[in-house]
Amino acid sequence: MSETVRIVIAGAGLAALRAAERLREMRFDGEIVLVGDELPKPYHRPALSKNLLTGKAPGDGLYLEGYQRLNAFWRLGTRISKLDHRRHALTLPGGEEMRYDGLIIATGMQARTLSGAPLHDPRVNVLRTLADGLAIRESIKQAQGPVVIVGSGFTGCEVASSVTQLGKKAIIIVRGDTLFTKALGQELGEKMTKLHIDHGVQLAPSIKEWDCRPEGVGLKLSDGQQIMAGAVIIATGTIPVTDWLHGSGLILEDGVLCEATTHVVGANDVTAAGDVARWPNLRFGDNEDPRRVEHWTNAVEMGRHAAEALLLGRKASEPFCPMPRFWSEQHHMRIQACGIPALGTDTIALTPDRGGKLETEPKVVGYVRDGQLVGVVGVNASRAVVRWQEELERQLPIVTKSTMERRKQAEEIRRSQDELRRSQNDLRRQSQPLRRRPAGMPLDPDTDWFENGFQELMEYNRDNYRSGPQLPRDHPSYPGERVYPDELRDSGARSRSRYSGTPRMPRR
Ligand SMILES: Cc1cc2nc3c(=O)[nH]c(=O)nc-3n(C[C@H](O)[C@H](O)[C@H](O)COP(=O)(O)OP(=O)(O)OC[C@H]3O[C@@H](n4cnc5c(N)ncnc54)[C@H](O)[C@@H]3O)c2cc1C
Repeated sequence: MSETVRIVIAGAGLAALRAAERLREMRFDGEIVLVGDELPKPYHRPALSKNLLTGKAPGDGLYLEGYQRLNAFWRLGTRISKLDHRRHALTLPGGEEMRYDGLIIATGMQARTLSGAPLHDPRVNVLRTLADGLAIRESIKQAQGPVVIVGSGFTGCEVASSVTQLGKKAIIIVRGDTLFTKALGQELGEKMTKLHIDHGVQLAPSIKEWDCRPEGVGLKLSDGQQIMAGAVIIATGTIPVTDWLHGSGLILEDGVLCEATTHVVGANDVTAAGDVARWPNLRFGDNEDPRRVEHWTNAVEMGRHAAEALLLGRKASEPFCPMPRFWSEQHHMRIQACGIPALGTDTIALTPDRGGKLETEPKVVGYVRDGQLVGVVGVNASRAVVRWQEELERQLPIVTKSTMERRKQAEEIRRSQDELRRSQNDLRRQSQPLRRRPAGMPLDPDTDWFENGFQELMEYNRDNYRSGPQLPRDHPSYPGERVYPDELRDSGARSRSRYSGTPRMPRR
């Protein structure tokens, strides 16, 4: 290990940049190396499906500003192929080995492709990188026929919206006939579908056959339709980039498995952040399943947290408990989400539905699990979403290490208070002055006439007689005259033997 402490950040995207900034903010004065396989420095990925395609933003206008002077080494266009976390070593192209003292994994996602799709044809593309965005922009510009988008998630629908804004025909290949039902629920899904259709977007069923020709990309659909597409964009989802971690021993099921603090499970001095990291967000319950969050704000916040956690170490780190936030833009509508709507098993309308279009009627929907609001989505309702976000934060308070510690302490205090209360009750019961039972009043098993009677008797005897249990005949506890009614005898609240017959005094 070299004398200078070195932190390597794997991936040079958004989460990586924000992690590096946080390291410097925390006065880390060692070496920071960002290794990214793309050539450009970090850029605004959400703009790829929006402003870049519509031409509102040029490709070179998307680069991200840094908040800090990083004084870092950038190894761009460099793919990491292997991690040996026991030796704290990464393998780079040409067999180069890079040692680290601390590692932050932030390698994001890659676009999922479609089996049978002719990606060798420049008119057929996926959308994840700036290079993809530029290629798609060019293919749309050249397109003679409609632009076909395979996949109806947020990216696919944003692309369809951008295509129509360019005055081109967009066709979305979708399962079923409603968009977003899984992500947003039936009601909002239907409204969003109408929004797209009203803007000229066509929905079509799955592709059966591809046929690349000079005049376009021929597509045969499952309903028999034939389309000669001018361009095809495959937006069928994403896969976490973990191939370089295979064989490392880390848990790589749907991303890199992390602890609540962002420390990678099974490795020392390694944290993870951004789209690739899967971790339990304790804000949504102590037993919440670890999950990934593919949102811009999450990459920012988690990047910063992973840097802190790496410097602080496992024991001193707080759990990462964000309130996830997401936005999308389609046909000039702003869709905003907070919380984890996908956790909801039911939806609740948080704005009245007057049957209007989304363009004229802002819409807010809540997502509910076990009676608890877990997410909110709003369309053209920014202020309402912010208010609902505050409400969500109130209902799902942040669970940091100190709050977990406080909860534990509160639980201990509650338990000892319970114990104290129980022993106080016992004491009170024992020291309760003997009450004279009004004539004819039935005995109440809870008032401890019997015990009080004994207590009184013992004290009386101690004070008045050295030996021999004697009570004045007019004393209410005088055993010979006391009546123990059947309901008390049979109540089962006390042992039968103690209540049957005349009570005996303990021998002295
Ligand atoms: C088209 C599009 C539109 C989006 N729109 C929105 C939106 O509207 N709202 C929103 O909230 N979010 C949106 N997102 C999601 C958002 O952009 C991501 O959540 C965010 O960029 C994640 O940042 P990251 O740093 O985790 O990953 P990335 O930004 O993907 O960065 C990871 C980097 O690591 C590199 N890398 C991978 N493997 C290696 C390796 N082995 N060696 C070296 N480098 C490697 C990758 O090439 C990449 O450059 C959008 C994403 C896309 C693609």
